[in-house]
Amino acid sequence: MSTAQAEVTQSCPQPSYWETHKFTIWRNIAYIVVILALIVIPVFKIAKIDLAHNEAWILGERVSVEDGLAPVILALGFFSILVIVMNLVNGRVFCGWVCPGGFVAELQEKLRRKLYNPRSETGGKIAYYLVTAVISVLFTILFFNWVTDLRVFFYTTNPTFAGMWFTFLATFGIVYFELFIGKRWCRTFCPTGIYQKITPYHHKIKPTMDPKFNLSDCGSCKECIKNCPMALDPRRMAYINDFYKGLQACIICGNCIDTCRQVRLPKCKEPLMTWVQDLPPRDPSFISGKVH
Ligand code: SF4
Ligand code: SF4
Repeated sequence: MSTAQAEVTQSCPQPSYWETHKFTIWRNIAYIVVILALIVIPVFKIAKIDLAHNEAWILGERVSVEDGLAPVILALGFFSILVIVMNLVNGRVFCGWVCPGGFVAELQEKLRRKLYNPRSETGGKIAYYLVTAVISVLFTILFFNWVTDLRVFFYTTNPTFAGMWFTFLATFGIVYFELFIGKRWCRTFCPTGIYQKITPYHHKIKPTMDPKFNLSDCGSCKECIKNCPMALDPRRMAYINDFYKGLQACIICGNCIDTCRQVRLPKCKEPLMTWVQDLPPRDPSFISGKVH
């Protein structure tokens, strides 16, 4: 450690992990709760349809498939309404805090940067293909467990055997594509994401650079840009009216706020990124990204 670094560390109370990772922690908790719910509900037959045996379960009681459809349709309806309401209040917050596909795509993106980049060895790339295949199988199983007894995939005598395998492999293909391209799925292809961009939305709070700072205050940092899962420039994207580069693409994850705190607080500098309700007017050169 250089003398200058040592001076900064000694003279500056270092932030806690919580202070610099608050939104990441909350978000991971929210995502994990959703994924656990998706696992626990069918495993404990709180709600489950078993198309292979033409039966269903509600709260552990065996019922007809018709009756069992009700909670599944209700769950789908609940998530659809959640997307609509969240989008109306604060844009794509569903993508950043609830969607299990978004969570897994985010983890994949990190893996992809390590294993599957232009400098990667062939071994790393093969590892990425394999890991993506394994995660895709697990993710597909997660959803099939809601609609069938998974043992059907091993019973050739079951009348749904061929159909189940066909549907499983088709779903696996889509999931593999989603996970292979990582967060690009959420940026470009996800139907729920596209829906949220083209239907009415509002942003009660927005991440942006604190109005009292300017791009030149960052120096050469650019860490929030590197860490934004949606490949935005978080400092100024709220001023840009564009589906791919503007606030419409932001998933309100708070990564940029956490990242700026990680960069600035250890140096006893005020973080530049913050949440705002109303965007203050900015110079066109700020919006265009020119440092001044
Ligand atoms: S992390 Fe903070 S200091 Fe670094 S580029 Fe982003 S806003 Fe600027
Ligand atoms: S701009 Fe910030 S809040 Fe929006 S997606 Fe990027 S990191 Fe998340």
